[in-house]
Amino acid sequence: MINDAPLLAGLRIQLERMKDVPCGVCGQMVVVVGQAAGPHVASLHCATCDRHRGWLPKTIADFLLETISRFGWPTEAITIRNPEFAQANATALWVHARSQSQHPELVMKRN
Ligand SMILES: [Zn+2]
Repeated sequence: MINDAPLLAGLRIQLERMKDVPCGVCGQMVVVVGQAAGPHVASLHCATCDRHRGWLPKTIADFLLETISRFGWPTEAITIRNPEFAQANATALWVHARSQSQHPELVMKRN
């Protein structure tokens, strides 16, 4: 089992793939990391209305944990561009998976 995932609970993430598919209820594009559930590392919920938006892949969770340990807890939502993420959630809403990159790419968003 993964023990690190709870450390990510509450983290705000904005997914590039979700530009095309914002929350169907309120239009919010930022998701919040929730708790682990079954085989999943963590759930993702709409930042505004708490609607379930998908699951956090372990590869991304590991990447986020590494990033936070290095740079600290982000004050802004982290933007992720990662085809793996979309593929892992293809059964949810994000069907625009593209395989341009094999590696997670993360951008610390700043004002
Ligand atoms: Zn919503």
